[in-house]
Amino acid sequence: MTWPPLREELRGIEPYGAPQLDVPVQLNVNENPYGPSAEVAADIARAVGEAAVSLNRYPDREFVDLREQLAAYLNTSGGSGITPDMVWAANGSNEVLLQLLQAFGGPGRSALSFAPTYSMYPEYARNAMTQWVVGHRESDFSLDLDAARALILQTRPSVILLPSPNNPTGTALPPEAISMLCEAAGDGLVVVDEAYGEFRRAGTPSALELLPKHRNLVVSRTMSKAFALAGARLGYLAAAPEICDAIRIVRLPYHLSAVTQATALAALRHAPELLGKVEDLRAERDETVAWLREQGLTVADSDANFALFGTFADRHGVWQGLLDHGVLIRETGPDGWLRVSIGTPDEMAAFKNALTKVMEDQ
Ligand SMILES: *Cc1c(COP(=O)(O)O)cnc(C)c1O
Repeated sequence: MTWPPLREELRGIEPYGAPQLDVPVQLNVNENPYGPSAEVAADIARAVGEAAVSLNRYPDREFVDLREQLAAYLNTSGGSGITPDMVWAANGSNEVLLQLLQAFGGPGRSALSFAPTYSMYPEYARNAMTQWVVGHRESDFSLDLDAARALILQTRPSVILLPSPNNPTGTALPPEAISMLCEAAGDGLVVVDEAYGEFRRAGTPSALELLPKHRNLVVSRTMSKAFALAGARLGYLAAAPEICDAIRIVRLPYHLSAVTQATALAALRHAPELLGKVEDLRAERDETVAWLREQGLTVADSDANFALFGTFADRHGVWQGLLDHGVLIRETGPDGWLRVSIGTPDEMAAFKNALTKVMEDQ
């Protein structure tokens, strides 16, 4: 055996992560550019201070208060009738999704998604020893539903992962498509990853509305994006109580620290303020998409806080050119495309100036 005795299939693999470069304008990981206000930060600090007094004790394993508040929030954000026993949470929706695969995937089972899709999914599948199956989206990033159904019936995945709004494309799936996939999946789970759900455009419904219709539907959300709380690591899902119950078998004991629970509860008390910038970001997003199109570029419709645009014969050259002007975006998506996260008006002005110059030089 070679040293260290790493699993065979992990040898030579680089750990995942977007480049973290120290440049003035960082528009590469879909963060919310607006941090909490001084008041909200102080209230979070106060809540953490209170939790600190009893850090000698393990936290509430079932995070009852947090589940209650997350359920209440979801009922104001596209859901209705969601009860605390229909909510699960973990350290980021990345952990929620890994737990889903640990509980419902595993050896002899498969997980399916449709590319382009979130680049972490195949890694969760690998870590949960679940076979990874990938179908494809159309050139406008929509789903060919007949082909999708056929692939589901042929491969019978136990988990189907559908980011909507999708990362890296920004496009959302219509509810009819999600319903059809839930039916085709049989007893398999359909996980709609709504990490960007709060940014969806007017008229784009949340998959939360479909929960009463499909017992195999899981809708995941995160506090990392719209809530501007990426550093706190809190992701969650809504699903039938028996699904939430089953995840408890694979979670690590006390996986949500008392500090995390206090932070998330304090943030939920300030949901209106923390989400206050979502409107501005949506407007800035629509404006950015329109501007990119005016430059003659192709831009995917976006229901998220980023835009996927292209296509460039030398996308790496464009990415590097932007970086040379102090603007970091993400080289991701299908060949020729680039993804820019929506920042503040100043950051977007810097991005537009830099891109104009880079395109003149191309
Ligand atoms: C950012 C993102 C997440 C959120 O991850 P966290 O672990 O909650 O920070 C989940 N899914 C997709 C598709 C994302 O882009």
